[in-house]
Amino acid sequence: MKIPFNQVYLTGDEEKFIAQTMANKKIGAGGEFTKRTVDFFEKRYQFGKCFLTTSCTSALEMAALLLDVRAGDEIIVPAYTFVSTANAFALKGAQLVFADSQENHPNIDANRIAQLITEKTKAIVVVHYAGDACEMKKITALCRKHNLALIEDAAQAINSFYKHEDGSLQALGSFGDFATFSFHESKNITCGEGGMLVINNPTYIERAEVVYQKGTNRTQFLKNEIDKYEWVDLGSSYAISELNAAFLWAQLLHLDEIQAMRKEAWSRYFRFFKSCNLNQKLPSIPNYSVGNAHIFFLLSNNRATCLEKLAEKEIQATFHFSSLNQSPYFETNSLIRSKKNDNADQFSQQLIRLPLYNAIQNEQIDSVLENF
Ligand SMILES: *Cc1c(COP(=O)(O)O)cnc(C)c1O
Repeated sequence: MKIPFNQVYLTGDEEKFIAQTMANKKIGAGGEFTKRTVDFFEKRYQFGKCFLTTSCTSALEMAALLLDVRAGDEIIVPAYTFVSTANAFALKGAQLVFADSQENHPNIDANRIAQLITEKTKAIVVVHYAGDACEMKKITALCRKHNLALIEDAAQAINSFYKHEDGSLQALGSFGDFATFSFHESKNITCGEGGMLVINNPTYIERAEVVYQKGTNRTQFLKNEIDKYEWVDLGSSYAISELNAAFLWAQLLHLDEIQAMRKEAWSRYFRFFKSCNLNQKLPSIPNYSVGNAHIFFLLSNNRATCLEKLAEKEIQATFHFSSLNQSPYFETNSLIRSKKNDNADQFSQQLIRLPLYNAIQNEQIDSVLENF
């Protein structure tokens, strides 16, 4: 491919930091780079307690465990999302209830959520698609009114914000009782495979320390509060290696320059489509969203032809999620409830993502646009 859809960006500091972990002979979890990274996120975005995890998927699973999700609980999940958002709760035997997208944006529709809440609803999971904020004012109000837990799947939303009515910005990932991030190679900041669980509701923090340490009180032991550590609760292995944390730290040090490059590329696409009257439909970015240029997407009635035309020129554009209510697994799992999700289905059929990565050049964007 002349212009790939995605390309991993190296800041130049990765090898140096990985070499440091090797020189220290400390490559397991919980070392210096993990501490620096967690500290960075907690301070910069006013997040609660952060835990680096092996993926966003495992962070979601950790949240489901901490919430004690079990058979009989209903969890409202967007229909238009990646499977992990749903899997984490399906693994616990919960009843999933799929909610449709907004009409003009793949994000979950708060009005649809409201219609799906029952006595059994335990939590709402939202996904900030493309790093664009969901309707957080309405959604947090629903959670308060019905006493529901909120989980933000912020896999795509590092350095994205919600703009309050007074103009102040609040980072996505700081609203939910839990929020999860991904550092998969397809995201703005990466360490290959990696993720993070943010816990903004302090009630869950003490238990999280145990769950994160495979169900033991090892964290207390490391703080010299007890003289041996034991199995005290459920848990699993969620923490990432220092090799990955070192790579991640090298990327985070360059976060501002990475975001500037991405926003420039995103804006170049956006200006072009705004200025010409193509049949393709641009997303409508809500005015309360200050996004992170994670994805440039638009809609086409004629997606297959459009993607083929680009592929002939060795330009790799692509579709995205299929509504989970259209998945083969949905057909076999009687625990999942879904109404029709016309908006999500439309995004499944029509959404196109154009090449966008940190180091993409103006000439490459122009070449995509010429061949579109
Ligand atoms: C990428 C992504 C995930 C999965 O992230 P991993 O780190 O690969 O587990 C989950 N949810 C959404 C919305 C994503 O975009």
